[in-house]
Formats: sequence, C-alpha cells, structure tokens
Amino acid sequence: MLTTRPRGTADILPGQIENWQYIEAMAAQVCREYGYREIRTPIFEHTELFVRGVGDTTDIVEKEMYIFQDRGERSITLRPEGTASVVRAYLENKLYAGPQPVKAYYIGPMFRYDRPQAGRYRQFHQFGVEVFGAKQPAADAEVMALAMDFYARLGLTDLELHINSLGCPTCRATVRDKLQQYFQPMLGELCPNCQSRYDRNPLRILDCKSSRCAELALDAPTTADCLCSDCQAHFEQVQLYMQDLGIPYVLDKQLVRGLDYYTHTAFEIMAPDIGAQSSVGGGGRYNGLIEACGGPPTPGIGFALGLERILLALEKSGKLPQIQARPLVFLIAVGDRAVRSSFSLLSRLRAAGIAADMDYQGRSLKAQMKYAGKLGVRYAVITGEDELQRGSVMLRDMYAGEQWEIPVGEVINTLKDK
Ligand code: AMP
Repeated sequence: MLTTRPRGTADILPGQIENWQYIEAMAAQVCREYGYREIRTPIFEHTELFVRGVGDTTDIVEKEMYIFQDRGERSITLRPEGTASVVRAYLENKLYAGPQPVKAYYIGPMFRYDRPQAGRYRQFHQFGVEVFGAKQPAADAEVMALAMDFYARLGLTDLELHINSLGCPTCRATVRDKLQQYFQPMLGELCPNCQSRYDRNPLRILDCKSSRCAELALDAPTTADCLCSDCQAHFEQVQLYMQDLGIPYVLDKQLVRGLDYYTHTAFEIMAPDIGAQSSVGGGGRYNGLIEACGGPPTPGIGFALGLERILLALEKSGKLPQIQARPLVFLIAVGDRAVRSSFSLLSRLRAAGIAADMDYQGRSLKAQMKYAGKLGVRYAVITGEDELQRGSVMLRDMYAGEQWEIPVGEVINTLKDK
C-alpha cells in the first residue's frame, strides 16, 4: 500500500509534465483570445451542490461520487465535474451583479468512482469553460468553436463534433411522455437502474451503458423530434453560425449527455482512434441550472474536455511536440576552490535568467562531463585549478564538441549572445 497509488489515479512525472504544461498553456492562450478568464474553485464542495447541480438521476450522482463526512459531520464530495462549482461561485460571489455575460474557464482534477480502463480514471483532469448570461445562439457556436479551435491548435484536426438539441422543459415534457409510451411494453427488459429512471427521468435511459438498454433504445423517440418552434429556431441558428465558421459537425439525435441539467444545444467531440473511450469532450447549454441552484434565471452554456484523452489522441496521432526541459548550461568544477567559484557563478547565471545546474555528488571531471552529456545541456562551463589561476573558464559547446577559454567575467554575456 505504501508504495502503490490508489486505483484509477496517476503520477505525472517529469518528462510527462511538459506535455501537460503545453496543453494547459494552449488552453489558457485560446481562452485569453476568446475573452474567458480563469476561475479556481475548491476541489471539494458540499455534496448537496452536486446532487442538485448534476442531477440525482445521473450516473455521477447515483454511483460515482467520492463522498465523505468531514470531522464536523458535513457531507463533502470531491468534485466530479466543474460546472456546479462555477455556478456556486457565480452565485456566492454575486458575479451576476457585475457585467454579463461572465465567461470563465478552469483546468483541474475531477474525481469519479468509475471502472478504470484506458482513458477512464478515478482522478482525471478537465479543461472547461462556462458562459453565464448569454442566451443567443451565437454563444452556443462560440463555445463549440473555442473547443474545436483548441484541439486544432494542438494538431487534432480529425475529430468529430456531434451536436443535438435537448429542447426546453416544454419539449422535455413531450419527449418524456413519448419515451414512457415507447419503453412501457419493454419495461421488464430494462436494467434495474433504468426501470427506476423510467418514472423519474426516462431520457436517462437513452444514455445507459448497458448494451441491452442501448439496443432497446434504438428506435426510441428523441428530443430532436419533439422540439417546440422556439427551440427549433434556436438550434437552426446555432447550425447556421457553425456553417458560417466552417466548422463541420454531425447531427446526432441519439446524443443525450450525462448530466441532467442540459437544455437546447448538447455536443460531444469524438476522437476516431483512441479506443473505446472515444469522447474527448462534451458540453451544452443548461438554461435551468443557475435557477435550480437558487440563483436568478440565467442562461448558461459550457463544455468540459478530458485532458488525459487529449494526450492519448496526441500520442496516437504523433502530434506531441518533443519538449525537453533541460538546463542550457552545466558547470563542471574540480577542486574545492573551483567548486566554490562555480557555485557563485551558477547563482549569477540563474539571476541572469540562464537555466544552469552543477554537480552535487563530488563526481570526477570525467563523470561530470558524462552527466552533463546525459542531461543534454548545450554548454559546459569547466573550471579547474589552472583556469581559476587565470580567472577564466573553459566554455564547451557540447553539441559541436568545441571549447574556448574565456574570462569568467564574460561567461554570462557570451552565453546571452549565443
Ligand atoms: P463529462 O463531464 O462526463 O461530460 O465528460 C467530459 C469529458 O471528460 C469526457 O469527454 C472525457 O474526455 C473526460 N472524462 C470524463 N470522465 C472521465 C474519466 N473517468 N476519466 C478520464 N476522462 C474522463
């Protein structure tokens, strides 16, 4: 136990973290250009927030949350997704009283007690955005465009964007009736979970992971067949904007999404060749959520993208840049006096913004050279007793295999020029 991490979690090691930093920096850059600002909310919240904000008939709330009692006997949950927390922060900090819409993004770990497999973990990371207070269809298009732009800048251009409309509460009531009529004769064949969903939220049956339920649902009526004229018009506008932006999409009437609070546009982004867990992100509009959480009626829309799966897709398609974090310079010193002099040069190099390092193991000259080679540094700055006497160092270009003696006072400027 002591040396084994919990199932479904991962260590992100040096050598891997550079890829994460690259993706996260890209997310931050795209968000800046689209006018989204970062928000950081707690990793844990009151359990009630997710029960209300995600929906009590969802898989997440029914079986995937990490819930515990804290020492004050409050029920606390490790966040399984980001939207509910951002909504809570919007309300608690009265962001609705400021200029609207509020456009925010977040990046961070989420926790779900899922069955771990490739692309599915118990602690995973999402990059998400939320827009509160924008009801126009252009906002739906912007949010999808932002997601696709982000993927494209990473080099992921062969993704499929699936979109659907889940309608408003009026359309939902219609589809609910139709679904209950449709599933009524086969109620006994549905999984126990779906049998209980039949009364509470039959739409959820369309999202069930059991293959029998999926089979039975094949010819079920869909929300897209039951849209009222306003929802129909909204959805058509969204599609027009997408066409104007030249972003291809697939109309997918089967698309439901895992969270209860979605209304109108719902979307999911699939990567063709990363295995069974092909969804690299999804989102949609949730016009009822903020009110359901006790706020003023406020339209909302957003997405969440899974960073592990994006990394998987980047690896599979060979689109990960070769990023190696290594110091530019390694200081090599032999003898106590030379080590002292190098140590102070090291600090001056760093103060000048040059990434530099030196040996702390008392290695021999040869071993230090070998180690510098392993680190892959470009330059070695070698100080021995002779150089010390002359107030100089040997600057070695490790790639070219050439070296020159230069005065110690010129090292920083010489390296800066290079
Ligand atoms: P969701 O919040 O369920 O809509 O998921 C949005 C995205 O998060 C998915 O498309 C996945 O890329 C990612 N995701 C969701 N659950 C997991 C998980 N258990 N492990 C890894 N990634 C996940």
